[in-house]
Amino acid sequence: MATIADNLQAVRARIASAARAAGRDPATVTLLAASKTHSIARIAEAQAAGQRAFGENYVQDALPKIDALPGLEWHLIGPLQSNKARIAAERFDWVQTVDREKIAGRLSEHRPAHRPALNVLIQVNVSGEGTKSGVAPQEVVVLAKTIAALPRLRLRGLMAIPRAGMVCEFSKLKQLFDDLKELFALDTLSMGMSDDFEAAIAEGSTMVRVGTAIFGQREKEKSTA
Ligand SMILES: *Cc1c(COP(=O)(O)O)cnc(C)c1O
Repeated sequence: MATIADNLQAVRARIASAARAAGRDPATVTLLAASKTHSIARIAEAQAAGQRAFGENYVQDALPKIDALPGLEWHLIGPLQSNKARIAAERFDWVQTVDREKIAGRLSEHRPAHRPALNVLIQVNVSGEGTKSGVAPQEVVVLAKTIAALPRLRLRGLMAIPRAGMVCEFSKLKQLFDDLKELFALDTLSMGMSDDFEAAIAEGSTMVRVGTAIFGQREKEKSTA
């Protein structure tokens, strides 16, 4: 059976060849390990194999992992309820799912003074279908202006979860990202998962969120958010 270290090596090789095929430097694509439902021991295995950035979907599930494995970079990639904004602002390094002003305000308000500004991505609902989370493309600029004005947030870019198989949505997101870069200093376009990260890299993704291809199939998806 392939180990997590083997899987990571294979995923990194696939990222590198997808980047090169697109004429891009592989170093411009960050691998985020989507570790939802996976144990501290399995995440530690990935860490031992050199993986540093991890994405979690549920704040409560993530806390024991963050406590047990200090020094890693933790991204919230699941929907954030406003009653969890304080703890998310305290414990995560990135929140990729900001999709409304109220959440952005709370995250900034609760980001501890001793930590650097919280990195945030605006989650975009590219097609208006699929996932219900995310702002409509035409609302992105207004939300970006709000976030840019908040003292304890650092707007880094955009994130999306297109419907399965809808790789055409990657190019729409890339266009939106490029337009937004005219107005804000952005460096992160988070798109692509186990089944489609090569297509996302071809369209300009700078961060792929990969779970299954690293950790194997998830047994069950808890929802203790
Ligand atoms: C679970 C998840 C992923 C990873 O999905 P895989 O198909 O297992 O690679 C990526 N992004 C988000 C937001 C997720 O919830």
